[in-house]
Amino acid sequence: MSKKKKETPVLAPSHFDLVVRGGHVVTSEGIVEADLGIVDGQIVRVASMITEDASEVVEAHGRYVFPGIMDAHVHFNEPGRTDWEGIAHGSLALAAGGGTCFFDMPLNSEPPVIDAASLRTKRALAEEKSCTDFALWGGLVPGNLDRLAGLRDAGAIGLKAFMCHSGIDSFRNVDPHTLREGMKRAAKLGLIVAVHAEDDELAARYTAEQKAKGRFNVRAYLASRPVEVELAAIRQAVEFAGETGCALHVVHVSSPEGLALITEAKAQRVDVSAETCPHYLLFNEHDVVKLGAVAKCSPVIRDERSRLALWAELRAGDIQTIGSDHSPSPPALKTSKDFFAIWGGIAGVQHGFQLLFNECGETLERDLPLLAAVLARNVARRFRLDEHKGRLAEGFDADFTLLEVTKKKHTITANELWTQHRLSPYVGRQSRVRITHTYVRGQPIWSDGRIAPATRKGKFLQPQR
Ligand SMILES: [Zn+2]
Repeated sequence: MSKKKKETPVLAPSHFDLVVRGGHVVTSEGIVEADLGIVDGQIVRVASMITEDASEVVEAHGRYVFPGIMDAHVHFNEPGRTDWEGIAHGSLALAAGGGTCFFDMPLNSEPPVIDAASLRTKRALAEEKSCTDFALWGGLVPGNLDRLAGLRDAGAIGLKAFMCHSGIDSFRNVDPHTLREGMKRAAKLGLIVAVHAEDDELAARYTAEQKAKGRFNVRAYLASRPVEVELAAIRQAVEFAGETGCALHVVHVSSPEGLALITEAKAQRVDVSAETCPHYLLFNEHDVVKLGAVAKCSPVIRDERSRLALWAELRAGDIQTIGSDHSPSPPALKTSKDFFAIWGGIAGVQHGFQLLFNECGETLERDLPLLAAVLARNVARRFRLDEHKGRLAEGFDADFTLLEVTKKKHTITANELWTQHRLSPYVGRQSRVRITHTYVRGQPIWSDGRIAPATRKGKFLQPQR
């Protein structure tokens, strides 16, 4: 079957495969009460009332129809570390949380994705095992400059680089020379570069200082990564982006100060965007002290003032995307008396996004369009997938999720986790928002708390060139 081109007018169908009826359809422009008519996995009509026949009707009265969440930042760890998560578990947990597509990071799979062959290997695995659509990041590491073109040709969504030690020895962090040179080449190849922005030297120095004082607890870890560690790296990355003309995406920005540097650079026409993660919007440092290992990540979660400032920046439009940075590990790696030795990574792909909806509380209606922008539309735009993804509109893929706001609060339990290991900092948290359904290209993946039987396999997404 040939794909409809955008300019081809869609004929008025007399029969739909699926109609989503009576929901409050959320777009980044606002919320409208409308029916969605779907044929061959695409939205072909958005209208106040669709009366034609449909093979299937989903009643969405009283619910929000939200665009499928595009999570541009996950670590599903396959191949090589499937005992940490794996694509099948990870994509299912994502769908249960309203996600319809993920971008897997080049680490912590083994081999890491640093050339075309390793990208193709991961692609084949994901095509077989993912229940959602997906894209794949390639890595920018010392020594692979000559393989970046191969990554582009194999369909990488972009290149990811670490500016400090990644925690995985097979994925080395870039030195300034490699980053600058890599960005120069990426700009020529039309590839966006994403950076984990923490300064390696500063992080190492502050860590050594804490350890020298005999401090190894959670507070020592938090103290070892003050905001200047993040700022120094953002400054450098932004400078290189300006110099090379490379598109830059700073992942998991944890502080309003970091965002300010990015906003400033944008004003000077540097092509840079900022991602933050649900955990920076949902937790503060006191929560990390209480929760311990499950809330360990880097950059670290900061104080309440920063958390509230991030919400303000989000509402002001200064955060372009939100990704989960889902980075699970086996429980054994989460237990040590030495907090520095514990695996750093938050497993939040299933609940992080829905808790953002819950956090909006009374202002949910007002905030939903904004969340539709940062969770779907902007992701599709920034990564050039916006021909068919990211919006609930005619001509777009029927990727959506149904949200219900319940009267009673629900307490999240470990039992409801679809991740391989039932570890999440969100267990025990209460929410009024429930994801009841997730559809990928018109097919149900997640349905009323259950995996839908006819689970379609994921499609590999490549940026438009
Ligand atoms: Zn990450």
